[in-house]
Amino acid sequence: MEISITQALPAELKQKPDENALGFGAYFSDHMFVMRYNDGKWHSPAISKYGEFSLDPAAMVLHYGQAIFEGLKAYRGKDNKTYLFRPKENLARLNRSAQRMCMPELDIELVYKGISTLLGIDRDWVPSAPGATLYIRPTMVACEAGLGVRPAKEYLFFTILSPVGAYYPEGFNPVKIFVTDKYVRAVRGGVGEAKTAGNYAASIMAAVEAQSQGFTQVLWLDACDRQSVEEVGTMNIFFVIDDEIITPPLNGSILPGITRESVIQLCRDQGRTVTERAITIDEVFQANDEGRLQEVFGTGTAASISPVGSLFHKDRECCINHCNTGPLSQQLFDDLQAIQYGYKEDPYGWVSCLGD
Ligand SMILES: *Cc1c(COP(=O)(O)O)cnc(C)c1O
Repeated sequence: MEISITQALPAELKQKPDENALGFGAYFSDHMFVMRYNDGKWHSPAISKYGEFSLDPAAMVLHYGQAIFEGLKAYRGKDNKTYLFRPKENLARLNRSAQRMCMPELDIELVYKGISTLLGIDRDWVPSAPGATLYIRPTMVACEAGLGVRPAKEYLFFTILSPVGAYYPEGFNPVKIFVTDKYVRAVRGGVGEAKTAGNYAASIMAAVEAQSQGFTQVLWLDACDRQSVEEVGTMNIFFVIDDEIITPPLNGSILPGITRESVIQLCRDQGRTVTERAITIDEVFQANDEGRLQEVFGTGTAASISPVGSLFHKDRECCINHCNTGPLSQQLFDDLQAIQYGYKEDPYGWVSCLGD
């Protein structure tokens, strides 16, 4: 399928924001990639000027929430080239989310071509400031007008680009995390493994309550036993106990993170022991009481590695590594960054270079 391209006129191009004050998700580039689905097929892939959509008030996404998305980043290397990290893994996961939500799958090669062409056109939007990146947000929503709960017959797919600042402008900052046993995020058999909008809507109240008490994020526990650790906000979680690196298994209610999988591989290749197994919050606190809990960190595209300084559960606080960043968190952050920015040879074939 040919991707049509209509570029914005030079006078319509936006002023670029200050690269040192980008924050997250506040600015959007000049163009977007859009595709539509009806009569059982995707058609009309097009790159055009970034702009509004018109949606019927009965568009099914607005009522029943058939909406899925992805998040990945474009990195500017020292050679000025643009790098992507495992982009086809994100597109494969988008298709798995689509399956779970009874939405149509996409042709991964076509979407990859659309996104890389879009990145070529908006290449000046990939920031050069240290740690800053261009966040890529592929999204699919049900746009058929109609009430009644069933899979829609019409969909809109689009990808927008947002320059985002360094997650740690002043160096690593270990986060304080609230472990909730009042709210739950997902349950086996539900949609926790899908990157679908409703999961995030459902998580907001717990996050707001935690933030009002001075915590950065919420750690979710298993919805049934309220003991087994699941994940944090938009990150998977790892614990280091007696030199063993432990992360909860992909049990159906956890989002299968690409950073998670990459970290497991990096650690194993460095000769470290990684175990995917259930771990309860009581085990974590007990290991800390006994001085065996060495590090806790989250993994996700936004922060890459996020060291956890303390966990708060049932009126008890567990301060990890004196609330400082541990050596493994730092090492993994450096290793991932070196691969993502093309500073170091990538032995895994994880990185795609988009040229100039
Ligand atoms: C996106 C996401 C992650 C992290 O996935 P990555 O592929 O590593 O970015 C973890 N948990 C949730 C709930 C997420 O939405």
